[in-house]
Amino acid sequence: MEDSKPTIPFATMRPHHALCALFFEGKGYSQVFVDNMTAFMADPSQMLQITTGCDALCQACPNNVNGQCKDEAKVSLFDQRTLKLTGTLLQADQPIPLYALCQGVFDAILQQGLLAEVCGKCEWAPLCQGKWQQGDFNPQLLQSDPTGD
Ligand code: SF4
Repeated sequence: MEDSKPTIPFATMRPHHALCALFFEGKGYSQVFVDNMTAFMADPSQMLQITTGCDALCQACPNNVNGQCKDEAKVSLFDQRTLKLTGTLLQADQPIPLYALCQGVFDAILQQGLLAEVCGKCEWAPLCQGKWQQGDFNPQLLQSDPTGD
């Protein structure tokens, strides 16, 4: 009998994009990017496959050039830091729901005051850091909504 693994049908996601999702407020690199991100975030239960290359959000980004981010060196560092800080939570071969991924970065990065350490050099960092200071994020993406909504 042939031992063939089925192709994983899940969308892909770079680890650091969980942080982007938690602070997303309808702004982005282009309208197509914003629309894609909005649609993507509408289903927090969707299963995701972790990748450190271009993902489902990059697909609609103008910085994606032939499947490679123009800022790959920078965003790759964001991914590596996210992976390191979340311990064993994120594995390329273990699909995870969007809400669990976001909860993981919430607990290991945001709650620990490490947002600037992970992605402080991002052009969006002032927006995200300002929102975090005000407790303004997307709680519907978490496993348990800390606002109780
Ligand atoms: S900037 Fe780079 S990592 Fe971020 S969404 Fe665009 S292509 Fe992806």
